[in-house]
Amino acid sequence: MTDIDKLVRNNVRNLAPYSSARDEFSGKEGIFLDANENPYGNLNRYPDPYQRELKSAISKIKGIPEEKIFLGNGSDEVIDLCFRIFCNPGTDKALTFSPTYGMYEVSAAINDIKIIKVPLNGSFQIDMPVVLPLLDDETLKLIFICSPNNPTGNCFNRADIEKIISTFHGIVVIDEAYIDFTEKPSFTPLTSAYSNLIVMQTLSKAMGLAAVRIGMAITNTDIIKYFNKIKPPYNISTINQRAALKMLATKGENKRQINLIIRERDILSAKLLDLKITKKIFPTDANFILLEVTDATGIYSSLVEKNIIVRNRTSVVNNCLRITVGKPLENNALVSALNSFEQ
Ligand SMILES: *Cc1c(COP(=O)(O)O)cnc(C)c1O
Repeated sequence: MTDIDKLVRNNVRNLAPYSSARDEFSGKEGIFLDANENPYGNLNRYPDPYQRELKSAISKIKGIPEEKIFLGNGSDEVIDLCFRIFCNPGTDKALTFSPTYGMYEVSAAINDIKIIKVPLNGSFQIDMPVVLPLLDDETLKLIFICSPNNPTGNCFNRADIEKIISTFHGIVVIDEAYIDFTEKPSFTPLTSAYSNLIVMQTLSKAMGLAAVRIGMAITNTDIIKYFNKIKPPYNISTINQRAALKMLATKGENKRQINLIIRERDILSAKLLDLKITKKIFPTDANFILLEVTDATGIYSSLVEKNIIVRNRTSVVNNCLRITVGKPLENNALVSALNSFEQ
């Protein structure tokens, strides 16, 4: 078992957190004269700092106890808080598997944490012989594993991920932003077996709530305690909590959307495979397709001229475009546009 208190930065372990009016009294009924709010209006009160109603709804849908859920202002806040809890600026390190989601590196830089980037192997899997010897470094505190991975789209081998979690002395963060688009199982159940595991999910992708900015950390209560200790007191607005609750109440509709996107992904993949410009389609467990083409930058620019915007990822995977699966009409427009390119 990892001793979480020992891994936490000294200043974070020792600090006395801000205690808000809603920390000191959390009842719903009463004459509220404690938070210097304006008594008039309907958005005049501070939000619930611990988002209890929303966590309860998420808990029911995911089958995860409320006390194991932390909500951030997007996954980006969760990533930043991980650095702030566990990494001493200027001395500690984090590790990522490249190419991957860009925010880990940016957040590391903001917090003055050095990033070790271990390139994925030729099948976009974790290069275990390279990574295992690096795990002994005492100043390495955090490892980010994005699975399904952005921008490659695939899941990493489960046994490799488990080997890293069970070997590493520090914290492993598994980013499951795209988990609803794959049949492969989530790592959330393993947060009970491994005390150094944080699983991140988000309402931004499958749930269709990118505008609402809600990211989740699912982990043990020892780590949850530290997230709550250092987060801004009212990090999720009332408007955002309500919007999320409204969406979660219609989860049948959301499930239909996810199934439609997965079906469209397979239809689109088949069509892309037939194009003259296509060199390779990488297998995907996400709601996007990484496509290797003859000339990514040229094709990207021509698509922009036709008002179709994909992501040019040639700087991270040579000659690759990352294509988000859209509505059937949007996907058809993309395929027609790509059909007009000869090579
Ligand atoms: C889109 C995405 C997220 C979502 O971030 P939010 O801040 O929750 O919107 C997280 N991780 C990865 C890998 C993503 O691609």
